[in-house]
Amino acid sequence: MTRYIFITGGVVSSLGKGLASAALGALLQARGYSVRLRKLDPYLNVDPGTMSPTQHGEVYVTDDGAETDLDLGHYERFTGVSSRQSDNVTTGRIYQDVLAKERRGDYLGGTVQVIPHVTNEIKAFVLNETEGTDFILCEIGGTVGDIESLPFLEAIRQLGNDLPRGQTAYIHATLVPFIKAAGELKTKPTQHSVKELRSIGIQPDVLLCRSEREIPANEQRKIALFCNVRESAVIQGLDCRSIYDVPLAYHAEGLDSEVLRVFGIDNPPPPDLSRWEAIQERIENPEGTVKIAIVGKYTDLQDAYKSLGEALVHGGMANRVDVELQWIESETFEQPDAVQRLEGVDGILVPGGFGERGAEGKIAAATFARIKNVPYLGICFGMQMAVIEAARNLAELPGASSTEFGPCSDPVVGLMTEWSDGNSLQTRGIDDDKGGTMRLGEYKCQLQEGSKVNNVYANGAADDSNLGLMISERHRHRYEVNINYRAKLEAVGLRFSGLSPDGALPEIVELVDHPWFIGVQFHPELKSKPFEPHPLFASFIAAAVDQMRLV
Ligand code: GLN
Repeated sequence: MTRYIFITGGVVSSLGKGLASAALGALLQARGYSVRLRKLDPYLNVDPGTMSPTQHGEVYVTDDGAETDLDLGHYERFTGVSSRQSDNVTTGRIYQDVLAKERRGDYLGGTVQVIPHVTNEIKAFVLNETEGTDFILCEIGGTVGDIESLPFLEAIRQLGNDLPRGQTAYIHATLVPFIKAAGELKTKPTQHSVKELRSIGIQPDVLLCRSEREIPANEQRKIALFCNVRESAVIQGLDCRSIYDVPLAYHAEGLDSEVLRVFGIDNPPPPDLSRWEAIQERIENPEGTVKIAIVGKYTDLQDAYKSLGEALVHGGMANRVDVELQWIESETFEQPDAVQRLEGVDGILVPGGFGERGAEGKIAAATFARIKNVPYLGICFGMQMAVIEAARNLAELPGASSTEFGPCSDPVVGLMTEWSDGNSLQTRGIDDDKGGTMRLGEYKCQLQEGSKVNNVYANGAADDSNLGLMISERHRHRYEVNINYRAKLEAVGLRFSGLSPDGALPEIVELVDHPWFIGVQFHPELKSKPFEPHPLFASFIAAAVDQMRLV
């Protein structure tokens, strides 16, 4: 039997609803249940793929190539369960499907309405692909009271009646703010938010009250009374030092046992929290700090690089060090000598990105890392810029560039119009739609035996006699390093150490004469977990630790 947990939010956005959902998923898993997490997003974009990262944060890509909300990244990092296309939907996609059916005549001449047609589509989404899963946790984006959220709230309300009794639970996350002038925590916003929710027919079973201070017992009682929930169901959610403390903190407040009680599970299996205790122990006892510069374009909003920041934290955990991140706008490196600012950092990371602005600054950062022997990790765009750097400055191709920035004499990075996906050939035209038309999702990559990166993935166990490993990583890009420049670049020390299985697409490059300089066409940060740091990040931070000792 599959049970459904719906998580809504009220009062303000950015309450950490996604993290709370992910943490609850992890806690249920710790008790032996299988979970899957889903996100319903009320905005009208069909998916977040076309939205600016500075507005909406990172686009999280799944193995099956869906461009999804960044909360799915938290879900994966906390539960290890790979998200799928079927785990994230937006109003835009729901309407796209409803309108396609209307055009096909599927509604047989009926009037197409929000209730029942849109809500039915939402319900079908929630109930799809759930077999064998004990709990589906379904987070509703936005805040109660938003016009856009209404059809989703109506749909989850209906599901409470459609499904057998005892198979659904509603959690509402709210804010209990501290008003300095009064010196008090205020429960009124929570009362109003729950009133709003109840007016559309949803009575929450559990309230997760986010607060920066302890909520006294009498205030908790007041919330219970006015919001019509049991006292034990008012769970306080205090700010945590690290997001990876959240599962243990919410467990201590009784979140998981209270949710299970809603389903009539009064004596659940005891949780095994050792994974989270071990993580907490590592976070709390670092043996040093490394400084990593992230030279990118969307540095104003760190959500734009959410998974990247987390993967670096995981790399730090693997090496028992704190990672201090310096976010640097790459355009600043386009002034003469500005790149000297990188003096003293222990590692340089150039992340994914799009468009010409700031590209020269990223190339300058790659030059700095190469010449000064500073560890360099280039991800997607960051790999492409490292290749341009080597082509211009080592292979004497001054006109080397990417066709993403317009025509050039040496297109060492070019538009990919054809590639193989398993046995089928994928083709793209230059003027194709922008949405959903990149090389997206998981693709295999053959590592070269004896290469540095093979050693990284083999966790130090490989030696030159080992065959190269076959790895699989997630992609999101339109352009590729041009395989035709391989011989020229390898001759000057930039080895193509990872290729697509057909040998046509360069996936990884590394500098032979450098302590740690690796560029990857894929996004390793999307698969890193706190309990399983990605080998590239663990190794990059290890190299940064060595660098720190040198200085
Ligand atoms: N703009 C580059 C491309 O489309 C890189 C994309 C990225 O870094 N994700 O290939």
